[in-house]
Amino acid sequence: MHSIIPIPAFRDNYIWLIREGTRAAVVDPGDAAPVIAYLDRERLQLSAIIATHHHNDHVGGNLGLLARWQVPVFGPARETIPGRTNALGEGDRIEVPGVDVRFDVLDIPGHTAGHIAFVGSLSSAPAVFCGDTLFAVGCGRLFEGTPAEMWSSLSKLAALAPETQVFCGHEYTLANIRFALAVEPDNRALNARRSREEQRRALGQPTLPSTIGEERATNPFLRAEQTAVKMAAEAHAGRSLANAVATFAELRAWKNAFQ
Ligand SMILES: [Zn+2]
Repeated sequence: MHSIIPIPAFRDNYIWLIREGTRAAVVDPGDAAPVIAYLDRERLQLSAIIATHHHNDHVGGNLGLLARWQVPVFGPARETIPGRTNALGEGDRIEVPGVDVRFDVLDIPGHTAGHIAFVGSLSSAPAVFCGDTLFAVGCGRLFEGTPAEMWSSLSKLAALAPETQVFCGHEYTLANIRFALAVEPDNRALNARRSREEQRRALGQPTLPSTIGEERATNPFLRAEQTAVKMAAEAHAGRSLANAVATFAELRAWKNAFQ
């Protein structure tokens, strides 16, 4: 039976640790210290490092972990990943050593040019590790990609089974919900989610994982084809928007300036 543990790092990052028996694989270890502290406390051995993209708050701990454990590092082929042993792109399937997990790899460019996602089953529950592309009620900034690329990447994630658990890289949910409510104030699922997530944060709990189904119902960046979202984006832009990519681009620009 797997357990998936969020290890908080920096201000609002989550490093995800997949634990099975006495072994553990770690996703996006931006910092080695909290991972080592957890592994030592729980008497676990590291068996693999998994990277979604090259940003330092996701890979900054790789070399520190490798100094102690010589393990494979799975990461995107099109980015520079410290210690990478397995260069991956869409269509690749990996077996993560030690923790009995298989992942299929998706290319999801937009936040970074070579960003990848890992889709698999953990104790028969579907899960996706999507780094900084899809967040709970939000999406990553477009540092290296176009709105069309990001829309296509988000659509790929939205097409996963609704029960798929979403493990992303940051706790941004409450701020994302504030923006989402500016776009869709009358979305009932979103209003219900706000109460639920505020309660979790008040108790110091993570709001993650969410599910693809929840994101499809509440995340404006997956909802650019919904009439209410398109109309809100057009009202904000002061012009009509021709298609979902144009609506998505306007939402992303609006969010960038949103206080
Ligand atoms: Zn990033």
